[in-house]
Amino acid sequence: MKSEESNKLVSIIVPCYNEEEVLPEFYKRSIAAADAIQGWNHEWVFVNDCSSDRTSNILAALAVNDSKVKVINLARNRGHQVAVTAGLDFAHGDAVVIIDADLQDPPEVIARMLGLIEEGFDIVHAQRTQRPGETKFKLWTAKFFYAMLRKIGDVKVVENAGDFRCVTKPVADTMRAFREPHRFLRGMFTHLGFEQCILQYDRDVRHAGESKYPFMKMLKLAADAVFSMSSAPIRSIMWAAGLTWGLGLAYLVYSMIVFFVSGINEPGWTSAVFLMTMYTGLILMSIAVIGQYVGRVFEQGQGRPLYWVSQTHNIDPKQFKQKIPEVVLAKRTALGDRAVDSSTISEPKVFLAKRPSEGWASAAQIHKEESASA
Ligand code: UDP
Ligand code: MG
Repeated sequence: MKSEESNKLVSIIVPCYNEEEVLPEFYKRSIAAADAIQGWNHEWVFVNDCSSDRTSNILAALAVNDSKVKVINLARNRGHQVAVTAGLDFAHGDAVVIIDADLQDPPEVIARMLGLIEEGFDIVHAQRTQRPGETKFKLWTAKFFYAMLRKIGDVKVVENAGDFRCVTKPVADTMRAFREPHRFLRGMFTHLGFEQCILQYDRDVRHAGESKYPFMKMLKLAADAVFSMSSAPIRSIMWAAGLTWGLGLAYLVYSMIVFFVSGINEPGWTSAVFLMTMYTGLILMSIAVIGQYVGRVFEQGQGRPLYWVSQTHNIDPKQFKQKIPEVVLAKRTALGDRAVDSSTISEPKVFLAKRPSEGWASAAQIHKEESASA
């Protein structure tokens, strides 16, 4: 057996949103699984996606007792894909694993993933062979969604693979450079290239709690997948326009023939209304599709940070800051023990300064108050 020092490091990223019911069991089971992996040390990068339950307290307690537990608390709920990105920005292991907190992805699979990394693969996609506990609706929509994405996507995504994935350090470093605000990580990882492989596993039912992906969030993820991975929708407008234009032309020719042959002037009310609504529908649909892309260009142009951090445990904020310059550490002096390095705070970037109940104040204001009281 190799000594601890010669072991490689695997960073395990766990996005958490209101997972108080599963976290203790997740930690217990995952730590047993991670400890059993030969040749690898591990660290946990828990990203609390601004949960409103006791997730933050549970993670803080875990961090006190275990220095391998690193915690990043986001100041606002930014969604699963961004929470994983925050974890990726910090994780600095030789390999990086992304796993859900709800034990649907069995942590015991990580050992097999690392085995494939040692064999020379750079990206190991975990593909679900069974998905017990999922509704028929979710299974059916997922099947339809992947089939559609395969057809129109410029990049092929691995069917039935969620975000449970293991990648090497170079892949994680490369991914850090991709900063689009609308993220579909599974497609983006496939897009990176490198040596990829698929590892099949049986997905479990959620250990406790409810899915944090309600229908609207699923829909948003699907839109992000389509519009960020494919330009087919915008190209399809041209085909649809050509088709309706052709239909209109055919109708014109037909009316003229009828007029010249029989001399009858078509009453034409129904067809006129039909054509009008069809064209209006097409125009509105085209604007909506273009709007999806324009909206994304707008958001990208704003250049906002993907997320901002309110508090960390077992992570030196400076180290974090160097790695990702756009991370903003919100100064929360009114809340006491927040990890703050005032040299890293530049006024326009600080959004959250005091509790809403105490009235919002800018960081400069608080700074003034502090210097006055000092
Ligand atoms: N999650 C998150 N932010 C959100 C929603 C979900 O970090 O806004 C996390 C959640 O805690 C879980 C993972 O993303 O670890 C997957 O969510 P969930 O299990 O609810 O999705 P499902 O498996 O039902 O698709
Ligand atoms: Mg789940």
